[in-house]
Amino acid sequence: MAKRDYYEVLGVDKTATEEEIKKAYRKLAMKYHPDRNPGDKTAEEKFKEVTEAYEVLSDADKRARYDQLGHDAFDPNKNSGFGGFSGFSGGDYSDIFGDIFNMFGGGFSSSSRRKGPQKGSDIRVNINITFEEAAFGCEKKIKLSRREKCSACGGTGSRDGRVKTCDKCGGSGQIRVTQNSMLGMIQSVQTCDKCGGKGTIIENPCANCSGTGREVKQRQITIRISAGVDTGSVLPLRGEGNAGINGGPSGDVLVFINVKPHELFRRDGSDIYLNVPITFVQAALGDEIMVPTLEGKVKLKVPEGTQTGTMFKLRGKGIQNLGGFGKGSQYVTVNVEIPQKLNGKQKQALREFDKAGSEGFQKHKAFWENINKKFK
Ligand SMILES: [Zn+2]
Ligand SMILES: [Zn+2]
Repeated sequence: MAKRDYYEVLGVDKTATEEEIKKAYRKLAMKYHPDRNPGDKTAEEKFKEVTEAYEVLSDADKRARYDQLGHDAFDPNKNSGFGGFSGFSGGDYSDIFGDIFNMFGGGFSSSSRRKGPQKGSDIRVNINITFEEAAFGCEKKIKLSRREKCSACGGTGSRDGRVKTCDKCGGSGQIRVTQNSMLGMIQSVQTCDKCGGKGTIIENPCANCSGTGREVKQRQITIRISAGVDTGSVLPLRGEGNAGINGGPSGDVLVFINVKPHELFRRDGSDIYLNVPITFVQAALGDEIMVPTLEGKVKLKVPEGTQTGTMFKLRGKGIQNLGGFGKGSQYVTVNVEIPQKLNGKQKQALREFDKAGSEGFQKHKAFWENINKKFK
């Protein structure tokens, strides 16, 4: 299919001014914009056609070339030195549509409206607590500096409540900015920098907050930490963060918890672990020992003949499940200690013990019997 003449596409004379071309293009682009003609292939083709024509005719250099050589000016096969249209080669027009989108003052778009209330930002607080505080829960005071509604103006930012329409944006909260783009001069819409998108300006700004409506305050707040928290737990304090903008809600305070390690206990979830050394005599004869738990000492029966590394379970002596029911357990591992420096009396007693017989050393006996059989 032969390409239509660009002037014909835009419906303008060969002598049309830049302004006339721009005007004609806008009218046609509005008419055929894909957002206004969803699913309409013909409209999409038309839109591409007018955009391509505009790209050439709005650029003085390209227009001069086109006037001289016609469509051949941009045909890469004709080697005119101009190349094709980068934006029209791949079939993905989203970038171009994005530009066009902005050109019409957000007429299609809902993304660049006047700014409404905005939620305040969150404040992150790190807190160190002890093992016991994590296990049983605790109350802590934290200090933070946050933006609050200005106490002098109640957050309005105005000394007397009087506001006027922003003269820069005329109250729309948006301004048009002209930029160079691949389509030539493009107007895009941005949030007005003078009024911050509100469309109004405070006549007499509050002296306390310079018209921002917010002021920084140092606060100490008391927080309740639940039993069962662990390192990495995050406690959200809804609405305790920075005050919102334009009447928006406050952000949150997020308390990140770090639990300090314990001297004796190790924790895994709601269970806790403890290692206890016992003497080889206690292990051999059995004993009752007192072991520490989070709630004080409890009696643990070590049976006769306990091996080193044996683990005992103390049900319900662990940590409260966070936000749930029940508690974990405490696991006690006993490590049998072999004495290193004995006095003479102890040595004598052990020699007597040795003479008394080898009963009880089952593994030792079985191993050597086996070895002596195989390696004569
Ligand atoms: Zn403004
Ligand atoms: Zn104020």
